[in-house]
Amino acid sequence: MRLGEEATGFVREGSSVRVLARSGTEVACDLMVAADGVGSAIASQAAGRPTSAPIGLVGLAGRHLDVAAIDRKAPPYLTAGPALAFGPRGVGLFLSRHDPATADVDPGAGPAHIEEPSWIWGLILTRAASERRLPDLVEAAARTRGWAPWARHLMSTTPPDQIGTYRFHASDPTAPTFGWPASNVTALGDAVHAMPPTGGQSAATAIEDAADLLGVVDRVTSGAVTLPVALADYHHVVDRRARPRIRESLGPATWVARTSGPAAGMALTAATNLIHGYRTLTRSTT
Ligand SMILES: Cc1cc2nc3c(=O)[nH]c(=O)nc-3n(C[C@H](O)[C@H](O)[C@H](O)COP(=O)(O)OP(=O)(O)OC[C@H]3O[C@@H](n4cnc5c(N)ncnc54)[C@H](O)[C@@H]3O)c2cc1C
Repeated sequence: MRLGEEATGFVREGSSVRVLARSGTEVACDLMVAADGVGSAIASQAAGRPTSAPIGLVGLAGRHLDVAAIDRKAPPYLTAGPALAFGPRGVGLFLSRHDPATADVDPGAGPAHIEEPSWIWGLILTRAASERRLPDLVEAAARTRGWAPWARHLMSTTPPDQIGTYRFHASDPTAPTFGWPASNVTALGDAVHAMPPTGGQSAATAIEDAADLLGVVDRVTSGAVTLPVALADYHHVVDRRARPRIRESLGPATWVARTSGPAAGMALTAATNLIHGYRTLTRSTT
């Protein structure tokens, strides 16, 4: 374990790989696993091209730890599970009341309550892929004009050190193959199959990859198969697992992008007014 080292590339030398680090350190190994996330330098070198591309959406994500204060304002149905809302002007908002203490975990798995409960939110905004600036709270306030006051309050009262910005990337689910031919360099997670978090599946997919890679190492070290054969199986499994998840995760991202057009904006505004009118009507007649 060499914390703080940045891998910049590798050199294949027969059955061995030499890992190159920015510090000038070089490490020889039997198997290199790129687990360096979206924009992976290692996976890009192995594939001979970037393994994902920006999809024109950017995000501002935050964690509000004053759960009781938000609970008093948020609609009760949001406590049932995560939600993704869309509005005009190409805006989406992910919301989740996150409480690890109430999560459905295996009782034998150890202490469940490792994090404080919080309200998690993620604002999704359309942005030309070439635009470099990431969003901030000022933009969040401007783009969510007309949204429920409690949702805007949630964002505006989140402490700045609990807010992060990010770009949405995705690998191409129609590419003929993921990655590259099996040898002694492989990858897991976002490094090889980036998908937007709108499907809530990317972290789990990375963990499944890691579990399968352990199987590869076991089979190779026990002498059951050679490394290239075990890795070829692994690449096949990763490919089959990730493709549909990328497609599914791109679905909601596409809806957000579509609401940025004037026609979709007008339709959404009309639908919101209709719902508001219906609520006013039913309140006044009951
Ligand atoms: C706001 C947000 C919300 C999300 N919500 C969800 C969700 O609800 N559900 C879900 O499943 N997923 C979600 N995701 C996605 C999830 O976080 C990722 O899919 C997951 O973290 C990918 O894991 P990974 O190990 O492949 O890469 P990462 O977690 O990105 O880890 C890569 C690591 O490699 C390090 N690194 C990078 N380059 C180098 C280098 N050259 N050398 C050495 N180290 C390097 C990085 O510092 C990092 O520690 C969300 C992501 C974001 C940004």
